[in-house]
Amino acid sequence: MEIENLKFDENGLIPAIIQDAETRTVLMLGYMNREALTLTLTNGKVCFFSRSRQKLWTKGEESGHFLYLKDIQADCDGDTLLVKAKPLGPTCHTGTDTCWGEKNEEADFLFFLQKFLQKRKNDSPEESYTARLISKGINKIAQKVGEEAVELVIEAKDDNEDLFLNEAADLMYHYLVLLIAKGYGLEDVIRVLKERHK
Ligand code: AMP
Ligand code: ZN
Ligand code: ZN
Ligand code: ZN
Repeated sequence: MEIENLKFDENGLIPAIIQDAETRTVLMLGYMNREALTLTLTNGKVCFFSRSRQKLWTKGEESGHFLYLKDIQADCDGDTLLVKAKPLGPTCHTGTDTCWGEKNEEADFLFFLQKFLQKRKNDSPEESYTARLISKGINKIAQKVGEEAVELVIEAKDDNEDLFLNEAADLMYHYLVLLIAKGYGLEDVIRVLKERHK
């Protein structure tokens, strides 16, 4: 992306759509001027030009909820930016992950579920099945993955849609918990798959 080729509007601004680099969820819309864009590129933290306050605004400067830059690209005619970032905390000042509330996250439900399950790591085992499962350790979780895989294999032999899909869901859930317990996420597996796809 060449800054010289971008089309800034009559106020010297260009809209920037901010997307979560991992989950692909659209987080917010902001405006950048040349200086904000340059600062974003040099600091690695997303910086806007606040139209209401008429000044440069590094997202997170007060809340600590910074947006760490992963990628930035201009659209077809160079008048809009797509910024992929890793958010440190909720992006909206109302406390939700996105400026369109939480529902928006379900666009990528598996990542939404992953985030939800990750929070369970800090919950007490009495309160949730996931917290209890995680507290039992890697071997126990891995064993459950094996059991659910066998159950899915068994259901694959029959034609009961309900049972087959339920076992498929059981396997996916336990697989997610195992990834999380090991400190990984779907994005790590996707990276490996993408490498192979080349
Ligand atoms: P922050 O950049 O998170 O430290 O927030 C600083 C100020 O910017 C807040 O008090 C809000 O007024 C405003 N603000 C923060 N996040 C957003 C957002 N996603 N959309 C619009 N305004 C925001
Ligand atoms: Zn355009
Ligand atoms: Zn907001
Ligand atoms: Zn099962």
